[in-house]
Parts: sequence; C-alpha cells; structure tokens
Amino acid sequence: SLGVHEPYVRSFVRKTPNWPREGVTFLDISSLLADVRALRHCIDSLAERYGGGHLTHIAGIDARGFTLGCALAYRLNCGFIMIRKAGKLPPGDDESSSLVSEEYEMEYGRGQLQVPADLFESSSVTTPRVLLVDDLLATGGTACAACNLLRNAGATIVEVAVLIELSSPEICGRRRLKEDAYIDLHSLL
Ligand code: AMP
Repeated sequence: SLGVHEPYVRSFVRKTPNWPREGVTFLDISSLLADVRALRHCIDSLAERYGGGHLTHIAGIDARGFTLGCALAYRLNCGFIMIRKAGKLPPGDDESSSLVSEEYEMEYGRGQLQVPADLFESSSVTTPRVLLVDDLLATGGTACAACNLLRNAGATIVEVAVLIELSSPEICGRRRLKEDAYIDLHSLL
C-alpha cells in the first residue's frame, strides 16, 4: 500500500462530475503522473508488492494503463504488453499474424480490446505470468475482458492492479473480477 504517502498521492486525482456523461464522476490521473513524487510512490508501492512474484510481463490497458504499467515493467525487469482498443493495431501481413479480440462493456461505454495473436510466440518466455495494470477499476468489465484476451493469447494472469478502485452499492468490480475471471484485485486508492 501507499502507507503514509496515500493522502499526498490522492491529492493529485482530479475529479469531474457528470463527465463524459451524466451520473459518472471522471477521475483523471494526469496531474498525479506529472508529479515526480506521486508517480514514484505509486511505482515503488507496486514494485514492492510484485517484486518477488516471478512475473514475466506487465500488461496495460489502452491508454492510461500504459503509463504505470510500462514504468513498473521496466522496474521489475519484465516485458510490457499493450492491450489496445480496436482499430489501433494493424492486422499483420499474413494469416499467421492476426489479432485476438474481446468485447467489453464498462462504466460509460463499450468497445473491443485486441492484442496480436502471436504475442508470445517470438519471445523466449514459454509460460507467460502476467500482471494486468490499469488506472481505474469501476464495473470491472474492461479488466475481465482483458483477462480473457490474455488467457486466449496463452498467458496466466497473476492479479489485477489498479491505482483507483471505485466501489459503491451499484458498482463492485472487485467482486465481478473474482466471480467472472477468478482473479484478485489490488488497488492503491
Ligand atoms: P470498468 O470496465 O467499468 O471497470 O471501467 C474501467 C475502465 O474505464 C478503465 O480503463 C478506466 O480508465 C475507465 N473508467 C471507467 N470509469 C472511469 C471513471 N469514473 N474515471 C476515469 N476512468 C474511468
């Protein structure tokens, strides 16, 4: 956990009520990432938790999951996986290099996540052990889809880690993740 640094890190989360639609409060981490101490506290805390975990890869969800995820991957000497929103990845040059896709539904929209089908094939790692990272968990729909996608690509998911966990009587992503994907959640805020 962030311990004594939690109030400091929390102070950089910017809230916008009723955005991008009525009833949703959007939490933005731009200022948190821009503050060197806040960023460092987050990465240090995650590195401490997962340092002995024998991870081979960190996977981040497009686009805010890339920021913390890639910094953590470098720190833990792991590879990094970009889980992309549909339409961003080129399909490849023949049948053997196509994409795997998974539909998702989240707090304020829906879409599709994709990775290359041969993601792990050219790597030296035969049994990928992956930590999934994102900025925020709300309903858990996006994270569940990302877990399915990574499993279809041949990975074992160790845990899901997010900076911010939303929970309310209506929204419990932690429970959904456990019930639908059999995965535990770790959150910093
Ligand atoms: P969900 O699938 O409902 O858990 O939504 C999580 C995904 O949507 C993450 O990739 C978040 O970046 C984004 N997201 C959902 N709700 C919010 C929110 N209130 N503030 C910021 N990002 C959000």
